[in-house]
Amino acid sequence: MDSQTRLHRLFTRAEIESAVNRLASEITGDYRDKNPLIIGILKGSFVFLADLVRKLDFPLEIEFVRLSSYGSGRQTSGKVKVVQGLRAAVRDRHVLVAEDIVDTGITVAYLLDYLKKKKAASLRLCALTDKPSRRRVPVTIDYLGLTVPDKFLVGYGLDSDEKYRNLPDICYLEE
Ligand code: 5GP
Ligand code: MG
Repeated sequence: MDSQTRLHRLFTRAEIESAVNRLASEITGDYRDKNPLIIGILKGSFVFLADLVRKLDFPLEIEFVRLSSYGSGRQTSGKVKVVQGLRAAVRDRHVLVAEDIVDTGITVAYLLDYLKKKKAASLRLCALTDKPSRRRVPVTIDYLGLTVPDKFLVGYGLDSDEKYRNLPDICYLEE
């Protein structure tokens, strides 16, 4: 990161919290009696998922998969790599995938496609943020927090070369 790169705040922690509250109440309405399996995509979704599940006051289970399509650059490589696969059984479960951001859609489309073959009872997607301007693969986001502009975001779990995940706000980097 050179010294000319500047950090701008896009959403404050209070704005993020109210989006997460809204998602939690939508998800509660649909999953209260379903003991869902919530699958977080690492690493970016870990902060979002931690906040979200603490607002869900009903039985649920949590799993993680680690997918990577980026390498260390900011452009998607277009190829998804499974760095750590799923351990829990998906068959006949109500599965909710939690993602930090849907950008081109390639990552999440890959995971949803993979899960579809595992015969879940139901399969939906919750995304904290959506960057629709860059979509390359159609993706239905069943529970969406915030729509974001075509900027490179960091904070609240999102990184730039592994930095900034710990920022409480969602920010963007600009030269
Ligand atoms: P997609 O496959 O939809 O292009 O990208 C999904 C993944 O790329 C996200 O899970 C996230 O890890 C990464 N990504 C996409 N846009 C951004 C962004 O603006 N900032 C950061 N830090 N990561 C992003
Ligand atoms: Mg991610």
